Amino acid sequence: MFSRDQLRGVIYGQAVGDALGLGTEFLSKSEVAEYYPQGLHHYTDIVQDGHRSRWVRGDWTDDTDQMLCIFDSLLEQQQLDIQDIAGRIYQWATHGGMGIGMTVLSVLQAPQFLRDPHAAARLVWKNSGRRGAANGAVMRTAILGVWQYDQPEQIMWQAEQVCKITHYDPRCVASCVAVSWLISAFLRGHRDTNALMAEALDKVALYDLSVSEYVDAIIDQPLEALDLDEGLNPGESNRIGYTLTALGAGLWALRHATSFADGITQVIHEGGDADTNAAVAGALLGAKFGFAGIPDEWVSELAYGDELEQRITRLVSLL
Ligand SMILES: [Mg+2]
Repeated sequence: MFSRDQLRGVIYGQAVGDALGLGTEFLSKSEVAEYYPQGLHHYTDIVQDGHRSRWVRGDWTDDTDQMLCIFDSLLEQQQLDIQDIAGRIYQWATHGGMGIGMTVLSVLQAPQFLRDPHAAARLVWKNSGRRGAANGAVMRTAILGVWQYDQPEQIMWQAEQVCKITHYDPRCVASCVAVSWLISAFLRGHRDTNALMAEALDKVALYDLSVSEYVDAIIDQPLEALDLDEGLNPGESNRIGYTLTALGAGLWALRHATSFADGITQVIHEGGDADTNAAVAGALLGAKFGFAGIPDEWVSELAYGDELEQRITRLVSLL
């Protein structure tokens, strides 16, 4: 039997991390310090510059919007339907969806997307010289660790299928599988974070060998060593939005954070693609520490928390 508190923790954890992380998205770590001399701890702290003022305070961004496209499809179809999810992402993107990444934009524009999203994603990936490995899939995959959480093999397959709707690179697939599988393992009642992480990395070696190498190299370093704002300082080439960076931030928080708030606070103060990094970290920390571990204010001041609550109620009735 799943823990309702952990299930809620995953959904709210993702949304809260995304909403708070918007406050430092695309800032370098030194800009974060200038923007937030007292630190960023409340949605009301979020500086309303040209980028951030597009969202009301307490709103989440594309990461959680796209997770909800997957969530709605699962609730409606009661099974995984790739074309249906692709259609929902398309609808969202073409009806005012904000914050859409370059990979998703390119794939949505491919003529075959609605008919065969995997073919569209493969084409865009090939055209990138098989190098494009953005974080736009790992940011939305948490819900797949909740749905059928008690069937780990099924979760790996489903995470791969949903990832490839837009992101075909094996590093993206490995990132999604790792996050979804870990969330499901916490929901199945496992508690040993380090053992679970080792097992997850073992599993994703199936898709790409570089993932565990990357994680091994950073996981026991100080958070600064992940260089989450790489590309935002003078002279750096742009690495913002790399899937393994988001995965690394999430896994680092999962291993080292003493609480939900500790993990999210540390991740967002590094800048970079902070909403995505904190969305991934938030979902993982929510699975570990549960809904009860998320600060009340971060939940109650979400701009659209009701939208999460309605869906969770339906999900629980199905499970
Ligand atoms: Mg975003």
